[in-house]
Amino acid sequence: MSRELTAIVIVGGGTAGWMAAASMAHYLRGKPVTITLIESSAIGTVGVGEATLPGIRNFNASLGIDELEFIRATQATFKLGIEFKDWHRLGESFMHPFSGAGVNLSGVGFHHHYNRARQQGLDIGSYDDYCFSAQMAKQNRFAQPQVPPVNALADYKYAFHFDAIAYANFLKQRAVSQGVQAIDAKVVDVGLHSDDGSIQHVTLDTGLQIAGDFFIDCSGFRGLLIEQALQTGYDDWSHWLPVDSAVAVATSPSASPTPYTRTTARTGGWQWRIPLQRRVGNGYVYCSQWLSDDQAREDLLSNLDAAPVSTPKTLKFTTGKRRKFWHKNCVALGLASGFLEPLESTSIALIQTGLSRLLQFFPVNGVVPEEVDEANRLFSLEMERIRDFLILHYYASKRDDGEIWRYCRTMSIPDTLQKKIALFRSRGHLINFELESFDNNSWLAIYNGFRFEPKLYDLAADQLPIPLLEKQLNGMRESIQQGASGAMSHAAFIAKHCAVSLA
Ligand SMILES: Cc1cc2nc3c(=O)[nH]c(=O)nc-3n(C[C@H](O)[C@H](O)[C@H](O)COP(=O)(O)OP(=O)(O)OC[C@H]3O[C@@H](n4cnc5c(N)ncnc54)[C@H](O)[C@@H]3O)c2cc1C
Repeated sequence: MSRELTAIVIVGGGTAGWMAAASMAHYLRGKPVTITLIESSAIGTVGVGEATLPGIRNFNASLGIDELEFIRATQATFKLGIEFKDWHRLGESFMHPFSGAGVNLSGVGFHHHYNRARQQGLDIGSYDDYCFSAQMAKQNRFAQPQVPPVNALADYKYAFHFDAIAYANFLKQRAVSQGVQAIDAKVVDVGLHSDDGSIQHVTLDTGLQIAGDFFIDCSGFRGLLIEQALQTGYDDWSHWLPVDSAVAVATSPSASPTPYTRTTARTGGWQWRIPLQRRVGNGYVYCSQWLSDDQAREDLLSNLDAAPVSTPKTLKFTTGKRRKFWHKNCVALGLASGFLEPLESTSIALIQTGLSRLLQFFPVNGVVPEEVDEANRLFSLEMERIRDFLILHYYASKRDDGEIWRYCRTMSIPDTLQKKIALFRSRGHLINFELESFDNNSWLAIYNGFRFEPKLYDLAADQLPIPLLEKQLNGMRESIQQGASGAMSHAAFIAKHCAVSLA
């Protein structure tokens, strides 16, 4: 297939569609390419997706977006990580911060020293005590990291909690001002080329036909182009990630919003709490095989910190991924490309990496099959790595009070994850496969949070005399406590720098 690319058509105007439009308008400026986005206000968007990963800052910066303007436009708050409450066992909690813990000593990774100290029975506190951003988060404080960091302990990143609908609107304004044509109509048919089966045009409910050389499917779970028209196929991963439903509701804002997402494990799944400036997003993610929609709704409503300000909305999904992210002259982004469940806030980040991949292999002079194969290989690997990371959270839980926990504890897991766990358990080894979205720091946070205790540690750690090790560990904890308690409260930081105006 070699058609010169002059017209891009994006179907869908949710977060994925407008991120794609803003990105294409930015990178294709000055080129003779038209960009048309079709969205349907009658269908609407999923309307959830409020917690992000630090990469969102790079995405915004790459488009020249001012961070404070973005925060005000999307009523964002800051996110230093995720608190996992009651996940390992009821009554326990730990943080997955966007940073590492401790510093290497004598060239040996901190976690080996931590493990050695634990085995020696030293009073070393929790793993979170060695993490500056986790301590700031626990104290409801926030400071932007200094670049470069003042010391290795103060090296951390942050992301945002934001209103996804407001973000899409914010990007829409930019994209339209840069020449993207927006059409509000429903796509009712997809026309294919008779020679190679690629997409020729879409037909709207107004009768209009919109032709294009390249199509980006951002139509959400339905995958209007990639699945319904091109029948690309779906890898269903619900045997590993069995949640298939969520009920979401907003509550009134908190005077003291946390600079972290809270996820609380419950009998039938888990509940999220995501504070924005003007409301708090809440939801319960569960598996409908073991919990009815009515019961989930009731459980959510009886476990809120504040009064609901919206009507609960139930959403259904199948965890997994599209077999190909790129098929013929169509790329799928966002929910149209798959959904792994929202536990680690990976969906919006995946839209971003999908866009980077599209740009990397952009079909300026027509689609090159080898490039498409490579883009699909990378997409699959990325999804599989995240899948494994998510499975770990369920598999490692010791909860026994619901079918979902009993099922996940004993399910067979992918070989790639099995290998990682075995190597960590033996000696704290961390292995990275190609295209990991979560780095060693993240894996360590989860392993430690679920109390995986390696039998051995790196022998080189023994070179550090125990009294010196104890002194170093105490020093790290003290310095972190001191630094964290010197930061402003999260609420005060927002009020000072980026509060949404009440007008
Ligand atoms: C319960 C839940 C919680 C989530 N939480 C997070 C989170 O915390 N962090 C995160 O990163 N992600 C999260 N996500 C994922 C996130 O919501 C999505 O990745 C993101 O919103 C992108 O959605 P989308 O644009 O792909 O799809 P949608 O928002 O569904 O948008 C689809 C678009 O396609 C249009 N459309 C559909 N059919 C037609 C048609 N026939 N004609 C014309 N237009 C059409 C719709 O009108 C809409 O504009 C969550 C998802 C769920 C289900």
